[in-house]
Amino acid sequence: MSKKDFYVTTPIYYVNDVPHIGHGYSTIIADVIARYKRLTGYDVLFLTGTDEHGQKVEKAARDRGLSPQEHCDLMVGPWKELWRRLNVSYDDFIRTTEERHERVVQSIFQKLYDQGDIYKGFYEGWYCIYEETFYPESQLVEGCCPECGREVEWLREESYYFRSSKYQDQLLSYIKENPTFVQPDFRRNEVVSFIESGVQDISVSRTTFKWGIPVPFDPDHVVYVWFDALINYLTGSGYLQDDEKYRKFWPADIHIIGKDIIRFHAVIWPTMLMALGVELPEKVLATGFWTLGGEKISKSRGIVIDPNRLIEEFGEDSIRYFLLREISLGLDGEFTQEALIRRINGDLANDLGNLIHRTVAMMMKYFKGAIPESHQLGRLEEDLKEEALGLASIIDNAMNRMDIREALVQIWRVIGRANKYIDEASPWALAREGQTDRLETVMRTLLEAIRVITILIYPAMPRTAEKIWDQLGQADFKSVTIDDAKSWDGLARGTSVKKAPPLFPRVEIE
Ligand SMILES: [Zn+2]
Repeated sequence: MSKKDFYVTTPIYYVNDVPHIGHGYSTIIADVIARYKRLTGYDVLFLTGTDEHGQKVEKAARDRGLSPQEHCDLMVGPWKELWRRLNVSYDDFIRTTEERHERVVQSIFQKLYDQGDIYKGFYEGWYCIYEETFYPESQLVEGCCPECGREVEWLREESYYFRSSKYQDQLLSYIKENPTFVQPDFRRNEVVSFIESGVQDISVSRTTFKWGIPVPFDPDHVVYVWFDALINYLTGSGYLQDDEKYRKFWPADIHIIGKDIIRFHAVIWPTMLMALGVELPEKVLATGFWTLGGEKISKSRGIVIDPNRLIEEFGEDSIRYFLLREISLGLDGEFTQEALIRRINGDLANDLGNLIHRTVAMMMKYFKGAIPESHQLGRLEEDLKEEALGLASIIDNAMNRMDIREALVQIWRVIGRANKYIDEASPWALAREGQTDRLETVMRTLLEAIRVITILIYPAMPRTAEKIWDQLGQADFKSVTIDDAKSWDGLARGTSVKKAPPLFPRVEIE
């Protein structure tokens, strides 16, 4: 069998931002995909990081009396800390101020200049320093920035341009021939009409500030922050640094991004790669936004939910589950604490938590925890077994469509089935009537179904899966693979379940 490699990326986050739940969302999606791929035998490269150049960083550092690098070194801390607390299993964290990245950006800039795809011109227009973006007059809202509502200024400067227009037709045919390149479908349609309306050459350097990667042949210019940032995906793959790694992981299998940066990823980035003669990523997946009271959650608008507070209050797996389960990928979702608590009390405490709790309690009562062997399966057992063993392929199908929500819905369907099985098989009646063989079969069937469910919830809720695994008395979750979820009788001989505090205590609503 050929070796399976998989490369997944998140956006790199602007180091000046305070991490909010929207950033957490993109990163958790990437983490679930990475963990799922590892579970199914892939060698995974999962890249995240921070975008650290630009005028805003330079200004923020100056305001604090720090050098821009010192400022970035401090600001990167909360990002890494949040990913640790959300149990994000990235393999590499890239910072655009790292030397490995600066070298790659400079080489690319030089190459595109040498081949005539970067040329010098002038740029002028309305500029928002917050977004570091020029806006055409027509996009301004009452004369202000359409993104953040701040005042814009008229700016004219010498600038290098990248000839993206040259690749317009090539890109359009590529997107039409590769319908899954941009996802979801409605985003692809947006991208296609944008390209058809005409791709403009883009300005790729600035002279108005210094905090950026110097243009190698013209040090008055620094590389435009977006051009610099997009290249992180190539740097992270080993491009121009480690050929073996690069050949293994490039092209990226999936870039997870927010819908607001889709033009950069589905128009500018592919034209840059075409100019370089580098293969395009397999897929660009744009997620929706979380809103609060109908407005996009963002720091610039002062609408923020601190994910750290949520993690402290509800635990990281509850947050992961809620974000993944509540909305379909690509659509917007309204974040409310009531909806979160409803998921915790319903899906997590009542359904999953209760299944584990009831099963372990009966195991302690009837067998002092020792996992029994099964005897002849009855119709009920065969049904539950079939449902549980069928789950892995249903989930594989959903995950290949990046439909994480559907994968969770399917797992919870089997959790519901297992809870119902307990009532139907009534172990307490079997115990009362002294039907020991039948009682052993029922409890073993239940435990096997839980074992399969545990493996399959791992990508979305890794800590919970490890806790249940431990409660099942099974050693070393790390050696578990997807094949273990496709076979029955996987519980190790001579093991015993353990009592533990409830996985998801019910949250009281004030
Ligand atoms: Zn703005």
